[in-house]
Amino acid sequence: MSKKTLIVGAGGVGNVVAFKCAMNADTFGDITLASRTLSKCNDIADNVKMRTGIEIETVQVDADSVPELIELITTTGANIVINVALPYQDLTIMDACQHCCVDYLDTANYEHPDTAKFEYKEQWARDEEFRKTNIMGLLGSGFDPGVTNVFCAYAQKHYFDEIHTIDILDCNAGDHGYPFATNFNPEINLREVSAKGRYWENGEWIETEPMAIKQVWDYPEIGPKDSYLLYHEEMESLVKHIKGLKRIRFFMTFGESYLTHMKCLENVGMLGIKEVEHKGQKIIPMEFLATLLPDPASLGPRTKGKTNIGIFAKGIKDGKERTVYIYQVSDHEQCYAEVMSQGVSYTTGVPAMIGAKLMLEGKWQGKGVFNLEEFDPDPFMEELNVQGLPWKVMELQADETRLVP
Ligand code: NDP
Repeated sequence: MSKKTLIVGAGGVGNVVAFKCAMNADTFGDITLASRTLSKCNDIADNVKMRTGIEIETVQVDADSVPELIELITTTGANIVINVALPYQDLTIMDACQHCCVDYLDTANYEHPDTAKFEYKEQWARDEEFRKTNIMGLLGSGFDPGVTNVFCAYAQKHYFDEIHTIDILDCNAGDHGYPFATNFNPEINLREVSAKGRYWENGEWIETEPMAIKQVWDYPEIGPKDSYLLYHEEMESLVKHIKGLKRIRFFMTFGESYLTHMKCLENVGMLGIKEVEHKGQKIIPMEFLATLLPDPASLGPRTKGKTNIGIFAKGIKDGKERTVYIYQVSDHEQCYAEVMSQGVSYTTGVPAMIGAKLMLEGKWQGKGVFNLEEFDPDPFMEELNVQGLPWKVMELQADETRLVP
């Protein structure tokens, strides 16, 4: 019987997921795209129809409402829900999936709108209920988290007996021509990068001031870039699942102009997430700022340059030290030419589709709530090569200093 797929969220990532599911219609069957603003769903559906010939249904939904979601899942008869709305909606969508006994996938871990803090606690807490209901939840199936978790599992399976250190590197050398804009949802992005840094070493989390640690990594196909240590959610699950790990850190590149704008916005209070009163109206500064900034989905046609995201892992194989960099390079313009979205939405949406494809095809199966490194990485790695995100492995000799700060 033909499958039924429900995608929730019609932003930059939702656009890519809709395109990619349509391009794999044999697996995804009947596709419905639901989001808060119906016109955005309709625009995406029109483009998908024009480019692929596949029709997708569109529906308006408030994904903060469990009853609305239950009705939507029931009416569509979905076999899987791909959540690419915002992290604020993770728990309501998980609860609706559990009620309807339907598999669940997302790309970012839960965050409460009033607290700029993200962690897996509340999603992992649903593991038992998901097991009892006989359904699977796949958490963080974007690029980072997502592909970076799969790269770690692949390194563990094929390159190491023990991995000692991992540096996850996220370089976006794209240029959209605006003085300041974010490549995905501005609120989520600015909350992430303005938070304190954190990394894990010898069993402990070590906190740093925001952007306090800078290193220059030399990214293949891009060149040297200033990279800043941030806390990033995949580290929380990787420290549980990677054997022998002694340290894991995450670095992201930022240009000087981005950081200067961000510092200035922070200094004047525009990154605040508490309500303030303005001429008798209550506003949240960060939400107001997000309204002013360019919609990330609109960056597609103007962004040029490449991304390089990978994992730099060191450890032991057959008693000898080994160092590898497993990475993927995407070109913003090529992404736009294929699915009308820039590289950051593309590199998130393609892995969301792949995770869902492996679930629907029964290649990744389980009952409960999972992170990606808990499954065999090989089928996911094969799909990345086929679906538009080809990857490479660079092995470094012991005395080599390529890449390394
Ligand atoms: P956008 O802001 O472009 O899109 C979010 C979409 O969700 C919008 O269409 C929005 O509706 C919709 N939405 C928000 N609230 C609700 C609600 N209550 N009910 C229904 N729909 C709602 O974000 P992106 O597409 O850039 O990002 C999507 C997700 O991907 C985010 O969770 C983000 O954190 C994650 N992400 C993950 C990455 C990874 O590598 N793992 C990287 C980048 C992003 P409306 O149009 O009305 O605003």
